[in-house]
Amino acid sequence: MSKILVVDDIKDNITLLTFDLEDDGHDIITAQNGEECLSIAQQELPDLILLDMMMPVMNGKDALIKLKEDEILKDIPVIMVSANDGDDEIISTLDIGAHDYVSKPFVYPILAARIRSALRLKYSQEALQEANKALEKLASYDSLTDAYNRRQFFNLSTIEFSKAKRANRSMAVIMLDIDKFKAVNDTYGHAAGDQALIVMTNLSKQICRNSDIFSRFGGEEFVICCPDSDLTGAIGLAERLREATQNNVITFNDQEIQFTVSMGVTIMQPEDKDIDAMLQRADTYLYQAKDSGRNKVIADQ
Ligand code: GH3
Ligand code: MG
Ligand code: MG
Repeated sequence: MSKILVVDDIKDNITLLTFDLEDDGHDIITAQNGEECLSIAQQELPDLILLDMMMPVMNGKDALIKLKEDEILKDIPVIMVSANDGDDEIISTLDIGAHDYVSKPFVYPILAARIRSALRLKYSQEALQEANKALEKLASYDSLTDAYNRRQFFNLSTIEFSKAKRANRSMAVIMLDIDKFKAVNDTYGHAAGDQALIVMTNLSKQICRNSDIFSRFGGEEFVICCPDSDLTGAIGLAERLREATQNNVITFNDQEIQFTVSMGVTIMQPEDKDIDAMLQRADTYLYQAKDSGRNKVIADQ
């Protein structure tokens, strides 16, 4: 059932149209001038508007202009219904953004077919928008943990890198890798390992600031870009992450799983050309943390 807003100043016209449209299974709401049309459209968000041209208070064309200027209402298809069938009028109305133009007196079955066509287009556009949103999410987020993926990390951290350079502000990068994660998989199974990655992500997101860019870099490796963070702040964050992970017990299939993480922490240096320079340094520290026994944070000296 589609919700159609019928706008006409002559009550008999509304009554006749409502009768036919309801007969076709539509849900009808009505308005008697352009102003009413706008306020009812805002409240009810109809699927389609049938808009009369000649009306008191605010005519159909002015209402159409306002509808098309409104961010929320602009995609509702509008079919203009008018006794004026002059070419110029039809052209200007379609150019403002009306979906269709029907001259009075109209043949109802033809109007009904035009309504069906407008609704088909509206619903397929909505489906496309939904699909685009899903694709955007897929392109930016890791499907297991729902953290940003590597691609989105580079998109966002590159912007933060430029901002920090320009404003001469500090920025930190933390590389984090789960210790002996292969053993978690080998001991408790791959599904338990997956769960550990999800828990690790949620725990880290709770500890990080909203402005921090926490991302899954790949496998059991994560990276955090911390805008406006100096070395002391970044080391503090890394230590909180390290301790929280060490103390966290995951229960999976009645088994208790615990693991630790190692991290490399660095802040932006004047000679850093891009985020990669920072990542390379953080990665070197991360491997030093692994070599010196794991469950450690190693940072710029
Ligand atoms: P280290 O302390 O040196 O980092 O040892 P490690 O075992 O963590 O490192 P290694 O690189 O040897 O092994 C990483 C393991 O992470 C192996 C791989 O199967 C596992 N892994 C990577 N991605 C996933 C995933 O999405 N799910 C699960 N369950 N395991 C994963
Ligand atoms: Mg590891
Ligand atoms: Mg690794």
